[in-house]
Amino acid sequence: MTAITGGSARRLARWLVCVSALGCLPGAPARDAARGQQQDGSAEAASHPKEYWRGKLDPEVYRITRCSGTEAPFTGKYWNNHADGIYRCSNCGAPLFDSTDKFDSGTGWPSFTRSRPNSVSRRQDTSAGMVREEIVCKHCGAHLGHVFDDGPAPAGQRFCVNSASLTFEKRGAKK
Ligand SMILES: [Zn+2]
Repeated sequence: MTAITGGSARRLARWLVCVSALGCLPGAPARDAARGQQQDGSAEAASHPKEYWRGKLDPEVYRITRCSGTEAPFTGKYWNNHADGIYRCSNCGAPLFDSTDKFDSGTGWPSFTRSRPNSVSRRQDTSAGMVREEIVCKHCGAHLGHVFDDGPAPAGQRFCVNSASLTFEKRGAKK
């Protein structure tokens, strides 16, 4: 049974904050996720141009990971996945999150209390009239979601991630 950690109002507030991230309109100039990523000295993959990723990724994955989009809640592959394993970046395959850190946030997006060490970068996101902390893959600059301070104890962090930014690998499975 899932413990009730907050009322429906709190869930609604979380939902509004998560869902209001600006998507990527067709043909609109998209924010270059890679450019900001290079500031903290991440891998060379971050320097790939958008054209590279557009040709490599499924359109919906491209929209979310390269244009800072957000998938609709309760629609992604992993919000309700409870299997044991590793969540990798859907763009470059880097391991980002562990299922042992996943929790039920009630938001409809995969939520984690922490990322794997040295895997995720943070940067300020002032889009949608809010100041939030965006999280991106440290290896390739893919947009993952946002991190909030209303997660469970002891760290109190909630990494709110799009399923489209992730691929899941069951523990012990061979690549
Ligand atoms: Zn990546």
